Amino acid sequence: MSPVQMLLGCLLLLYLSEFLVWVRSDAWLFRRRGRGWEALTQGALISSSRGSLHWVYPIPQLGRAYSVRKFASTASTVSTAVRPTIDTAFSVVDIGRRLQGVEDAFRPLRWTSWSLWGLVWVVCPLLLHSLGLQSTLWFLISGALILMATNALLLARIHGKIISGSGDERLRLVLSACLSPLAAIRSLDLAQKQALDGFHPLAVAAALPGFHGWEDLAAAEWRRLRYSVASQSSAESAIDGDAEGSEDVCMAIEVLARQRRVDPTLWDTVPRAEDPAHTQYCPRCRTQFTQQANLCRDCRWPVLLPIVQ
Ligand SMILES: [Zn+2]
Repeated sequence: MSPVQMLLGCLLLLYLSEFLVWVRSDAWLFRRRGRGWEALTQGALISSSRGSLHWVYPIPQLGRAYSVRKFASTASTVSTAVRPTIDTAFSVVDIGRRLQGVEDAFRPLRWTSWSLWGLVWVVCPLLLHSLGLQSTLWFLISGALILMATNALLLARIHGKIISGSGDERLRLVLSACLSPLAAIRSLDLAQKQALDGFHPLAVAAALPGFHGWEDLAAAEWRRLRYSVASQSSAESAIDGDAEGSEDVCMAIEVLARQRRVDPTLWDTVPRAEDPAHTQYCPRCRTQFTQQANLCRDCRWPVLLPIVQ
């Protein structure tokens, strides 16, 4: 392998590493899938109790991802003054407006992002082929510096105007965009990563065009909240600690489902047995069990319900 090929190979690896996204364990990640979107609550490249690492499409704009923290209607760490109301958190219209507003505001970063992309992946290989390594490096460095400086100025100005109160995040984004042309290519999308924070993830999913699998996610979340407080005497405490206020969130999910022509009563129906030996199921996570089980091993729900054979 020639030195030029090795250089381009290293550049490609560094470039691809920019398209890995870290998501905290208390958030959902929305990324592009085909022409639509999908939510990633599992399937990470690396996962730990603090969060997980996911990939996105390695192309500007298609590499967009939104991180949305799980909704806590009564979380003690969030003050009443800044806590979003259920109506606000579930407003698909407001989410649509926010998406469009942020997209329009960051539009000037498109040309710096795509110009840098073209410089690195189109102009640089062509010049390497015709002019050689030294002349290409001079051209690449001077072109990249001009575009990176413009990109950083635009990024700082627009981010400060649109996403207020995220000074640390803004500083981190601007610094990384100043240090590497590959990071600068990503600033268009990374600047918008937190844009939908504060809305409920299921409402965000409903607002994203061409979203895949909304009903399955909604059903799982609805059951998780519906069965977060043990109403039976055998269980005394809430499983997740988010039981308070979960009834309101459940109702908001049901309203959203009906708006999408989905019947939420079907989420709680008795399942068919996956195996003749299964006679009970967990209403919270739908795992099926034999007669010997007396609680759900997967989610710790204490009361199993019978499967009608
Ligand atoms: Zn369970």
